[in-house]
Amino acid sequence: MSDRPVRVRVAPSPTGDPHVGTAYQALFNYTFARSRAGKLILRIEDTDRARSTPESEAAILESLSWLGIEWDEGPDVGGPHAPYRQSERVVIYRQHARQLLDAGSAYRSFISKQALDQLRADQREQGWQGFFDAEGREMSREQSDRRADSGEPFVIRLKTPLDGDCVMKDLLRGEVSKEWAQIDDQILIKSDGYPTYHLANVVDDHLMGISHVIRGEEWISSLPKHLLLYEAFGWQPPVFCHLPLLRNPDKSKLSKRKNPVSIGYYQRAGYLPQALLNFLGLLGWSMPSGEEKFTIDEMIAEFRLEDVSLGGPVFDLRKLRWLNGRYIREDHDARSLRLALENWALNATRLESILPLAQPRMDALSDWGYLTAFFLADEEPFDPTDLKLKGKTADELAALLQTVIWRLEQQRDFTPEALQQTFRELSDSLEIKLRDLTLPLYVALTGKTASTPLFQSMAILGSDIVRMRIARAVDALGGLSSKKLRELEKQYEARFGTRG
Ligand code: GLU
Repeated sequence: MSDRPVRVRVAPSPTGDPHVGTAYQALFNYTFARSRAGKLILRIEDTDRARSTPESEAAILESLSWLGIEWDEGPDVGGPHAPYRQSERVVIYRQHARQLLDAGSAYRSFISKQALDQLRADQREQGWQGFFDAEGREMSREQSDRRADSGEPFVIRLKTPLDGDCVMKDLLRGEVSKEWAQIDDQILIKSDGYPTYHLANVVDDHLMGISHVIRGEEWISSLPKHLLLYEAFGWQPPVFCHLPLLRNPDKSKLSKRKNPVSIGYYQRAGYLPQALLNFLGLLGWSMPSGEEKFTIDEMIAEFRLEDVSLGGPVFDLRKLRWLNGRYIREDHDARSLRLALENWALNATRLESILPLAQPRMDALSDWGYLTAFFLADEEPFDPTDLKLKGKTADELAALLQTVIWRLEQQRDFTPEALQQTFRELSDSLEIKLRDLTLPLYVALTGKTASTPLFQSMAILGSDIVRMRIARAVDALGGLSSKKLRELEKQYEARFGTRG
């Protein structure tokens, strides 16, 4: 183990809902930092300009705070290595890329997109797995500068060895090796002048003094490129530790098709942050005593990174529910449970947003419970025979509802007005009357064929619960096969553009 002061980081990309995988990494980094008197840094990796949004960044910070993860440096709290948002550090990455150009470890590549596809195909045919631009690699610096100065578009690529093996060390896996010939000459700076994840990530980990990189297993294939960057800069690499991939109960990679993956969903559905953290802590780690219920402080007291086990941990919702139940039953009396409920949803602000929708339908005060219960639930039972749409089969309706889910995934503004606008556009483009389209949605969302106004109700329910209930309706209609989903996705992208 390294004897540098422990500094770890969690580095989410703000593209969409805060993901439970981010919470998982944050928890293990946090626990490790605290167990070694170290620091946790939160860094926002927003170099993907098309997909990053400030709303997503805000939601990530809020979700991690809700869980009780505390970071010592970050975009909101500042710190000695500010800024902690990569979009504000672009100049730094450009300077570093230039340093590599000057040292001859990187080169400009002027190949056009079309020519690149052809070249890649040719290299594949010759049995070459990675990709390199021979012309760029050999071009003189004068010629490269001249072409760049004349305004010709280019990317900057890292010069990867063409033979030999890259030997890497992972804290949990020991030595792993990979042939260099299988690895692309990685793009470091894109044609828009922005860095790729690889360059920005390595430069920041170094400049921010990161001692241990603890992240998801999906990044292990990028490790050769990262190690090569450390070498090219002459920097000491951190210790790398890739956490096991979280899995669905059928052992496939955790996906939102099979499990809710947004932290906000669990918050809205009434899970306690302590229980969710405890559940995440059990994924790949266990208390030496075997006790399954533990606080984060108890975890910190016992935690050793080497003890994380690699057998694919299963994100089992039944287990989470069981654990959450133990927290509710064992850790609360009536008063503290009431406070937990209040914190969650039973509070004046939320009731005052719901009641105006129920009021026109209330004859007695006691009607409020029946009329508004679905706002305070996770699942809302419905009669599957109510799920129908004029002239459509169950399969067609399932496909339509899936389209609605995808559309809502992209909907950042979840106000009634914005939702109404979106559904108008959806109904036009799908050539279905808005009234008809809303009927199965009433059933899926409220459990009834008629209820409080749809878009206002959706705005109160929030995006996570809305999408989850519609997904349950898709299942109730018989679900969609992987093949059907792929077809549907193509149609969707043709109609509405990429799903992002
Ligand atoms: N931005 C990357 C992500 O979204 C960070 C990966 C890493 O930790 O290196 O997961």
